[in-house]
Amino acid sequence: MGSLSRDRRPLGGRAVDIPVDAPCPACGSTALRVFFEEEGVPTNSCLLLEDPHEAASFPRGELRVALCHACGFITNTAFEPGRAEYSQRYEETQGFSAKFQDFARDLARRWVDTYDLRDRTVLEVGCGKGEFLIELAKAGAGHCIGIDPGVHPERIDDPAASDIRWIVDFYDERYRDLDADVVICRHTLEHIPNVADFMRMIRTAIGGRTSTVVLFELPDVQRVLDEVAFWDIYYEHCSYFSLGSLARLFRRCGFEVLGLEREYDDQYAVIAARPTAAPTDPAADGDPIPGEDDLDRLKDGVAHFRRGYEELLGTWRRRVQGIHDAGGRTVIWGSGSKGVSFISNLGLGQEIAAAVDINPHKWNKFMVGSNHEIVPPEALTTIRPELVVAMNPIYVDEIGASLRQLGVDSEVAAL
Ligand SMILES: [Zn+2]
Repeated sequence: MGSLSRDRRPLGGRAVDIPVDAPCPACGSTALRVFFEEEGVPTNSCLLLEDPHEAASFPRGELRVALCHACGFITNTAFEPGRAEYSQRYEETQGFSAKFQDFARDLARRWVDTYDLRDRTVLEVGCGKGEFLIELAKAGAGHCIGIDPGVHPERIDDPAASDIRWIVDFYDERYRDLDADVVICRHTLEHIPNVADFMRMIRTAIGGRTSTVVLFELPDVQRVLDEVAFWDIYYEHCSYFSLGSLARLFRRCGFEVLGLEREYDDQYAVIAARPTAAPTDPAADGDPIPGEDDLDRLKDGVAHFRRGYEELLGTWRRRVQGIHDAGGRTVIWGSGSKGVSFISNLGLGQEIAAAVDINPHKWNKFMVGSNHEIVPPEALTTIRPELVVAMNPIYVDEIGASLRQLGVDSEVAAL
């Protein structure tokens, strides 16, 4: 596993309640209160690092996570945009998981049917490695354009992608002439600090094409709060939304809300919207969208998170430490952001033997911050861990099947 001794940092975060003297980036009101703080957090958890020295000394930043009591938006008020690197070194894709592929394929088919994407121009802002746009093309979407600073057009060899136009860049005003009938943006808005500025830019770019359908998908913070899922709070995610706070942002920035849904075992929030000439108001529009009126539920969720954090952190620390003290091994399954955040909160070093990942682009590289080596599932036949901690419960069955195939009888626990 790594040749360096691992950097043990018994830091963890703290539940707090501190008012912030700054306007909310979503609604502009001064109603932000920090509820969770953490120092020494790696500023990017999806970079692939070849050099264990670079992994161990990777830059760290601060989390000061605040809820806006006026609109429900949650933001890291200590986020510094210049510190998050998005480039072709960025490896965030979940596309190597069959479960995630099935979900993306199913969602693409439903969106093509529901929003009639056949023969229409579809623009995906922040298309990542392009898997979803390829699924849309396969499901019958018309001309597809994907834009992302991390897309690798040379790695894409799927025949269905031959007509897709890839742009290796950030989306901004320079691309407003890409006349799209549908604007899709998945798992991107949570990386953007000035969310109202971003949505107004999208709205301006759409201009008078008011039949344009806008579809956004991103993690649902209500679940994070209800499950005290501290591993889902990390540096690159500077912005966190519920269905309601997402709807309130869209309405403020000149959209009407067509629908709000949860997807992927309720881990993701999806909004469908259409541009309007002016901000919209759910009260004036008649029927509010189910799930929109959630500000009290969000406040309760934040209170629940503050109460439950220390206890859950302690439970995991004792479990992993206990295995280590008895001479056993624990590995985590999933070396992405959740894994980096889990380890950084628990302050774990040698107590974790390795991080397993099914993405071959990550193998033999090192996790930022903790310097754990990333290994293929086959490495578990040598490591023989007592415990495999799945960084996402949705993959537990997939992980169990892999272990059985390898003849490894470890216990599998999910976060
Ligand atoms: Zn706000």
